[in-house]
Amino acid sequence: MATLYYESDADPSLIRDRKVAVLGYGSQGHAHARNLLDSGVDVRVGLREGSASRKKAEEAGLRVTSVADASAEADVVMVLLPDTEQKAAYDAEVAPHLGAGDCLMFAHGFNIRFGQIVPPPEVDVTMVAPKGPGHLVRRTYTEGAGVPSLVAVHQDASGSAHALTLSYADALGATRAGVLDTTFAEETETDLFGEQAVLCGGMTALVMAGFETLVEAGYQPESAYFECLHEMKLIVDLMYEQGIAGMRYSISDTAEYGDLTRGPRIIDEHVRAEMRRLLSDIRDGSFANEWIEENRAGRPNFLKLREEGKQHPVEQVGRRLREMMPFVSSGKERVEDVSGG
Ligand code: NAD
Ligand code: MG
Repeated sequence: MATLYYESDADPSLIRDRKVAVLGYGSQGHAHARNLLDSGVDVRVGLREGSASRKKAEEAGLRVTSVADASAEADVVMVLLPDTEQKAAYDAEVAPHLGAGDCLMFAHGFNIRFGQIVPPPEVDVTMVAPKGPGHLVRRTYTEGAGVPSLVAVHQDASGSAHALTLSYADALGATRAGVLDTTFAEETETDLFGEQAVLCGGMTALVMAGFETLVEAGYQPESAYFECLHEMKLIVDLMYEQGIAGMRYSISDTAEYGDLTRGPRIIDEHVRAEMRRLLSDIRDGSFANEWIEENRAGRPNFLKLREEGKQHPVEQVGRRLREMMPFVSSGKERVEDVSGG
């Protein structure tokens, strides 16, 4: 079994003795900056000129500067800009201020793994990647808990990069849940694979295909929505809490028999072969190149697909049904509240 680090494994003083810059105040940025502040770390937030997040950050008691000034002041720079913006911001505003003794941190390995950002050798380069969205990183921290996280060291110029990174993860609340060592390659490749094949791509395609199959067969879209989308969370919660067997214990024997005998017919050898192709496109860099090119071109295909997705009937019926179930989204921070400019 791999080693997991918990609170007693981290030295909280290491990160408190440093000056930290959190670049960006979106999903991850707001959570890192606020958790570090509450953990007694000297933290400033680096934002663009005219950023709409400035006010929110200042209201949370954080000092806001430009990305360049934050990078110049700090000796630990956590890059929480969108992955597609990181290279340009790094080249123009971060790199000129990096020197020996500094530590450059990421929450995802994309730009290092695919060679978009190449930091100078005298700088530590590490990662703290929470395995959950930013609003949970913040909420669990305020509840005295945390989100499990991965840490990795790409460059250890100082010889103490790992201990410093663990100390940062501790201030973030991650050591309350468990911190696992990984590499930039493993984190990046498994993260991309997971979101493409299982968590995002696989799941949304499965939900939509199930919904379409039922509607095409003449069933009410409302029934199809409840069955294929709404109930997903209930099942996933059981798996999250108790694993697959625990979930199967809670469903009926009929459901369990259908699960055991029919599931492998849906996720068959064809799907597995396609999963291996996705993984190979990730590892050989062709997915990364496609995405980098798509961004250079102004994201035409991405924006078109995003708009088409919003028009899908499962979304239309879902909007109507969720309005009648305000409790479904009550108490949850809305996406707009935790991200943006
Ligand atoms: P986000 O889009 O929610 O937030 C990005 C922030 O950067 C926003 O405040 C935005 O206004 C600001 N920004 C954008 N361009 C900028 C620029 N050129 N200069 C200055 N500021 C700029 O991003 P996110 O989802 O928090 O992702 C940040 C990093 O965290 C990424 O590396 C991502 O892969 C990683 N990550 C995200 C999650 C998640 O749950 N969202 C989970 C794990 C890791
Ligand atoms: Mg991820």
